[in-house]
Amino acid sequence: MEPLADRLGRPLETLRISITDRCNFRCVYCMPKEVFGRDYAFLERKDLLSLEEIARVARIFASLGVRKVRLTGGEPLVRRNVEHLVELLRGIPGLELALTTNGALLPQKAEALARAGLDRVTVSLDSIDDATFRALNDVDFPVERVLEGIDAAAAAGLRVKINAVVKRGANDDQIVALAERFRGTPHTLRFIEYMDVGHTNGWRLDDVVPAREIVERIDAAWPLEPLELERADDTSKRWRYRDGAGEVGVIASVTEPFCGGCSRARLSAEGRLYTCLFGMKGHDLRGPLRAGASDVTLSEQLRGIWNRRTDRYSELRTSETAALPKVEMSYIGG
Ligand code: SAM
Repeated sequence: MEPLADRLGRPLETLRISITDRCNFRCVYCMPKEVFGRDYAFLERKDLLSLEEIARVARIFASLGVRKVRLTGGEPLVRRNVEHLVELLRGIPGLELALTTNGALLPQKAEALARAGLDRVTVSLDSIDDATFRALNDVDFPVERVLEGIDAAAAAGLRVKINAVVKRGANDDQIVALAERFRGTPHTLRFIEYMDVGHTNGWRLDDVVPAREIVERIDAAWPLEPLELERADDTSKRWRYRDGAGEVGVIASVTEPFCGGCSRARLSAEGRLYTCLFGMKGHDLRGPLRAGASDVTLSEQLRGIWNRRTDRYSELRTSETAALPKVEMSYIGG
């Protein structure tokens, strides 16, 4: 079969799957309590793709060239039986399996996830200072417990990356502290620019600490040198500590957008397919799935969607597009 490519020649390689829109944190920049409170209408259980439906869709994607599946959310570890989903996905040949988590439930789940066949976890950790961390997650969750989760994941044999979103005035004082904590460990730390996506409490460009500045601050503490990108689809620019203490990455999604190599599709927990993080409307897959569509029919639908794809929102960002409605980060999973 001809390899799949979109209108800009980009292949389809990664599928990010949000398996729930619920989360046990209320990070102030992502799911603020004022919006995601008691009355918030989260997706109902019947609206979520079942674990079997998710695995079926993933299998079809794999037949179209997807090589990496990342589970996300909401918080993927609050979905019941996530380990079983990992097992089902492990049954698809040739897939790398990763999961993005806030780490809160990793101490009790890491072992089972590794046993089920997960390869990697990315742990979101925006502060190493306990008071700052508790204020950011807004559920008074201690940073120590996330660090235990990271240790549990590593002990279970999972490869671990740490992602830190930086918002000026909220946690930019944590850049050097986080770098210090993970220098010289096997875990790669990456800093992410705060994006204008979902419910971001009136995002302003001033809130973004540009990747260049993040690198400068770390470089002033421990000199860095740039590393080559590994693949066109790499989202992070990598830097090496000159003293040999490993590397650190920055994801400049705002100041240096990277749509050119983007080979990611995103599936929401209710089975809508988005071909861009900033896509405003997804394509419904659950309807056809539940109406009895065959694998061939679904595969043709996916092929058609990818072939028509032209998205490069981050590169086109203008004052007009900035005002358009956006999909919630907690819905699509980053
Ligand atoms: N709950 C999981 C977690 O914490 O990693 C997975 C879902 S969460 C939406 C995925 C990532 O999106 C987290 O690292 C979070 O910090 C990040 N995120 C949320 N809002 C963001 C924003 N406006 N800009 C950049 N990253 C954001």
